[in-house]
Amino acid sequence: MKQALVTGAAGFLGSHLCDKLLAVGMSVIGMDNFITGSMSNIAHLEDNSNFSFINHDVCQHIDIKGDLDYILHFASPASPIDYLKIPIQTLKVGALGTHNALGLARAKNARILVASTSEIYGDPLVHPQTEDYFGNVNTIGPRGVYDEAKRYLESITMAYHRYHGVDTRIIRIFNTYGPRMRLNDGRVIPAFMGQALRGEDLTVFGDGSQTRSFCFVEDEIEGIYRLLMSEYHLPVNIGNPDEITILHFAQEIIALTGTDQKIVYKELPKNDPLQRKPDITKAKEILGWEPKVGRAEGMQRTYNYFKSLSQEELNKMEHRDFTSFKN
Ligand code: NAD
Ligand code: UDP
Repeated sequence: MKQALVTGAAGFLGSHLCDKLLAVGMSVIGMDNFITGSMSNIAHLEDNSNFSFINHDVCQHIDIKGDLDYILHFASPASPIDYLKIPIQTLKVGALGTHNALGLARAKNARILVASTSEIYGDPLVHPQTEDYFGNVNTIGPRGVYDEAKRYLESITMAYHRYHGVDTRIIRIFNTYGPRMRLNDGRVIPAFMGQALRGEDLTVFGDGSQTRSFCFVEDEIEGIYRLLMSEYHLPVNIGNPDEITILHFAQEIIALTGTDQKIVYKELPKNDPLQRKPDITKAKEILGWEPKVGRAEGMQRTYNYFKSLSQEELNKMEHRDFTSFKN
């Protein structure tokens, strides 16, 4: 039986990844320090004899007994609200955490896949974004703590590949959504759905003309797994190229939830990328991957999940926005 370590296992993507690796017959060790994750995301795995969990900060030396075949390094805050609140931890997990994960891969002779992001393209001047675009990032802006941490993650991963011969994979994940996101994690989909469920107005930042392209989690996880199993070590974009403006998206959520909420406009956060859409030619050619779940279906499934949460959980997850952060 192959053995995998997933860092960030109690998070949104990490927990779905644990499910996938267990489903294909691997034994999985989950690791997390719960800085943005939740035990409830992995509670269903408690009785699974092929799953074990270690509560650990990956910025500290990682000690795993026995063999490891795969490491999937997903530990990192991912929502702008989170990384503005915990900027130093975000930089540290991208740098020290990634260094430790790569050191472990080298020591165990394991293949490692690291989670990078479309944010390494910053506010992109090339559209759609191809993997050979170097990006447009403000190093000293509020988002720089995340963007630069992930750019460093890619650089140190390539250094371990070139210098130590470690078997590495780099995925650039574009906005992904689905069940197990936190309603108050600040990202736009849980933000809008939480507002609709609480009967609040939807907060569109700026004039809403900025674009994003949203990928359903099931598709994203399949792309991650295919890259892990491939022989390709350069970065690959995995995301859904179906691009939409945030204003149009807010209108779609109002229609989906059948509420009569209004849209209110708030200041656009500094360096908020004006456009984002993955070019997935590489993923199609190398991995035979493309997304299958359209936005209407994915949003309905996500909304059903949020609706299924108890009123107590909904109330706990009151809306957070950028008003408490300086630009
Ligand atoms: P998330 O916040 O739900 O999960 C991140 C997990 O990492 C949390 O459980 C958190 O507690 C854990 N973590 C953070 N720092 C840690 C540390 N020092 N030690 C141990 N655990 C730590 O976010 P997510 O959306 O699941 O994102 C997971 C990964 O995917 C991140 O690396 C993120 O940068 C990347 N990513 C996600 C998206 C997306 O749209 N969801 C897009 C691009 C990249
Ligand atoms: N956004 C918004 N209202 C919200 C939350 C987010 O208009 O309540 C916008 C945000 O400014 C950005 C887009 O939605 O343009 C996506 O934001 P998110 O935080 O989900 O992810 P990003 O792609 O910016 O990392």
